[in-house]
Amino acid sequence: MSTPDGPTLLDGRALAEKIRAKYEPKLEALIESGRRPRLVALRVGEDPATEAYLRGQRRGAEKWGIEYAIETLPASSDEAAVRKALKALNKDRGVTGILLALPLPEGIGARGLQHQIDPAKDVEGVHPENLGNCFYGRYSLLPCTALACMALIESSEIDLQGKNAVVVGHSEIVGKPVALLLLAKDATVTVCHVYTDDLAARTREADVLVVAVGKPDLIRADMVKPGAVVVDVGINAVPDATRKSGTRIVGDVSFDEVAAKAAAITPVPGGVGPVTVAVLMRNTILAAEGMPPLDDPNQLPLFNR
Ligand code: NAP
Repeated sequence: MSTPDGPTLLDGRALAEKIRAKYEPKLEALIESGRRPRLVALRVGEDPATEAYLRGQRRGAEKWGIEYAIETLPASSDEAAVRKALKALNKDRGVTGILLALPLPEGIGARGLQHQIDPAKDVEGVHPENLGNCFYGRYSLLPCTALACMALIESSEIDLQGKNAVVVGHSEIVGKPVALLLLAKDATVTVCHVYTDDLAARTREADVLVVAVGKPDLIRADMVKPGAVVVDVGINAVPDATRKSGTRIVGDVSFDEVAAKAAAITPVPGGVGPVTVAVLMRNTILAAEGMPPLDDPNQLPLFNR
């Protein structure tokens, strides 16, 4: 429950730092043995939305001491050219982690290309082998944002067993994998989406509420159970005349009013975002180590491995 001082703020920057400290010895061991991880982000064209995301990754990699490079293909590239570039990265023994930056230019399908990434280098956990392992309760390289949500929930110290967890949004990179991971922790999971009838009735049942939609103010105070743990994945730029940029970033949850009811809540920015970058770095280290899949969900998400 929220304390007399208000809810616990699930501070993503502090958690990201804890994750870094936890994986530092593994990284040092890799560097000492001459195997410094090298992460390559492949992008096609220079979409400004991708830019901010890649900047965050580069900053994260620099902080961790992981080599990071961006390879840019011309915006006019076709699917065959992207496939070829991924093949070359798969083959390159100096590259230990690969990610394909989205969105791709119109006409190029992301899914088929993500399937071309060597699953052992798939540090975003988007290859069907890694997602399939997750489905079967074998944990390998898991989708970064989903795992970041689990790490933040874990940091709230809630015991998930038997709790009602509601996930709003069912994308392949966030909603679906987070639902599987919550299930692995024995929560009773409800997944909501655009066709869900009476969303508020579902979310009000949630002891743990994860929202990954991309709509500001989708979740208002009257949709939240008192004492819930709320994880806001959304990133939305809304107009703000007081800022030089003319916009500010908010999540999908009306923060102030929901915070007044929740036991714990993630801020936006400073919640899921920094932890996602930390998990990407953690995945990069595990990929460089040649991580075998794990069978024990109690080892999830981060701190025992
Ligand atoms: P996405 O692929 O667009 O998925 C959005 C999901 O929300 C879909 O399942 C959609 O359902 C559902 N939805 C749309 N409107 C809804 C409504 N009114 N009520 C309930 N569900 C609704 O998005 P995503 O990639 O998962 O990303 C979601 C948000 O998280 C975005 O704001 C994105 O920028 C952010 N994000 C943040 C991070 C981070 O590191 N912080 C990482 C990834 C994504 P239908 O498919 O049925 O329409």
